[in-house]
Amino acid sequence: MKKITIAIDGHSSCGKSTMAKDLAREVGYVYVDTGAMYRSVTLYALRNNLFNEDGSVKTAELEKEMPNIKISFKFNAEAGRPDTYLNGECVEKEIRSLEVSNHVSPIAAVPFVRSAMVAQQQQMGKDKGVVMDGRDIGTTVFPDAELKIFVTASAQVRAQRRFDELKAKGMPADFDDILKNVEERDYIDSHREVSPLRKADDAIELDNSNMTILEQKKWLLDHFMKCSEQ
Ligand code: C5P
Repeated sequence: MKKITIAIDGHSSCGKSTMAKDLAREVGYVYVDTGAMYRSVTLYALRNNLFNEDGSVKTAELEKEMPNIKISFKFNAEAGRPDTYLNGECVEKEIRSLEVSNHVSPIAAVPFVRSAMVAQQQQMGKDKGVVMDGRDIGTTVFPDAELKIFVTASAQVRAQRRFDELKAKGMPADFDDILKNVEERDYIDSHREVSPLRKADDAIELDNSNMTILEQKKWLLDHFMKCSEQ
């Protein structure tokens, strides 16, 4: 079996990371959650007052701070997935808050943020054997990935999933706020100038609105098997 690169892109909260993480564990690949990287930059920006009142980014200040933002991952055996670290601090919980979700898309639209993150992601995946999830993996980060999946589901279904996830973690959650956030992020992610969210021409589309996690897992594993045997 040859080692391949797997790119999983799609809309917010459509279960990409669950699928990607489960597949990586099952086949012994490295999992990289690229959304966590943009979320970490956002958390740094929130903590350091790098947003204007209207929610736009203070880009000149952020650009100066970029060398001080170090993001890394460390595998957490208990959770079965890597935890995200920002300058040595585990921020796995903080980066999932609605406040970070509400500020992340403008940060992810800043060109110098994207080029810094993409360079790190390409480095992390240079030896293949990686499952990477995000918005631009199949189009920009690894346009030559052997297996590309584009995942989607209706905004309602996605908001419900995020609501259930936050509730299960004991975090505050309001369905309407979450739905609004999902729709806003879809819009900004698909309309930004640099690497907008779009399906790569050679990606396989998966609408998982009516699929269970187990069904998705099997679907993805079947595609992985076919692809890595070729
Ligand atoms: O995947 P997740 O919802 O955690 O991603 C958070 C945000 O990061 C997305 O809404 C998007 O704005 C941005 N993102 C991106 N490119 C990626 C991954 C995430 O622009 N490869």
